Amino acid sequence: MILLGIESTAHTASVGIVDDSTRVLSIASDMYRPPKGGIHPREAANHHVEVLPGLVRSALEKAGIGPRDVDAVAFAQGPGLGPCLRAGATVARTLSLLWERPLVPVNHCVAHVEIARALSGLDDPILLYASGGNTQVIAFGSGRYRVLGETLDIGIGNFLDKLWIALGGTFPGGPALEEEAKRGHELLSLPYSVHGMDVAFSGILTAALALNARGVARADLAYSVEATAYSMLTEVTERALAHRRRNQVVLGGGVACNLRLQGMVRSMAEGRAGSSFAPPRSLCVDNGAMIAWTGVLALRSGMSCPVESSAVDPRQRTDKVAIPWRRD
Ligand code: AMP
Ligand code: MG
Repeated sequence: MILLGIESTAHTASVGIVDDSTRVLSIASDMYRPPKGGIHPREAANHHVEVLPGLVRSALEKAGIGPRDVDAVAFAQGPGLGPCLRAGATVARTLSLLWERPLVPVNHCVAHVEIARALSGLDDPILLYASGGNTQVIAFGSGRYRVLGETLDIGIGNFLDKLWIALGGTFPGGPALEEEAKRGHELLSLPYSVHGMDVAFSGILTAALALNARGVARADLAYSVEATAYSMLTEVTERALAHRRRNQVVLGGGVACNLRLQGMVRSMAEGRAGSSFAPPRSLCVDNGAMIAWTGVLALRSGMSCPVESSAVDPRQRTDKVAIPWRRD
């Protein structure tokens, strides 16, 4: 079985093709980069409309297949920005009708979990999903992916991006802060905001901007922001492991590319006689292959939907969608 998946929840428009043994045949992506400031949903959607047809073509070419070889078309139904989601869904519906293939809606957060789980070979890990718009600690239970903890305000990636842009940089901020932090050494005091298994970042943002206004070294600020924010994520992940009596973690989302975060989570998990796994960068960030792979799982369970009832759902929660391909 070969699936083509379309991702368009936020900045990234991406088309991925996978087979039913998790082999990634191709990924073709193009990211919308705002000239300044944060993401503008309509501008990003216009970008996706422009690039997606070309991305479909190049994904097919890279995979060395034609439309006839594609068994179904999956798309990210939510959560995400409405105009961006609709751009991807429209292309997916068109291909489904044109190629006469089933249409498979996929939850974006579940897709991060499933691609990481498949690549890790771990059967029942806890997932730390750390991306631009989302920050969640997720575990499977009773037919759904349950959100054990999450951000109470902004996603960690948005927090890093906002901070970096306020410091004079450009989007994306996470990787640039990672580089800057390597030159820092002094740990500055910042609010550490953990509430049970939830976290919050806006207080750190305010405090970091105040420190910046007082003229602290940018490298020390980056170093301290990473230390504080990633410690918070590691702590809530450890709490989830303890309560669920597990010791394996998979990471997903763009911020999971961060080597410092990966290292902190790894040493925490190993300290509990467990392990952790992060997918390679291309499959950690938003990508069409994870949508296609989750489409394989869904289609095998008989989950496809007619075009008429394939509306996008910008607020679709991780725990709202049924996961019939897993058992407790
Ligand atoms: P996503 O929403 O999953 O596509 O991820 C995009 C987010 O990941 C953006 O907010 C980036 O700043 C962030 N990001 C990407 N690479 C890194 C990195 N190495 N360290 C921290 N954040 C990162
Ligand atoms: Mg994502």
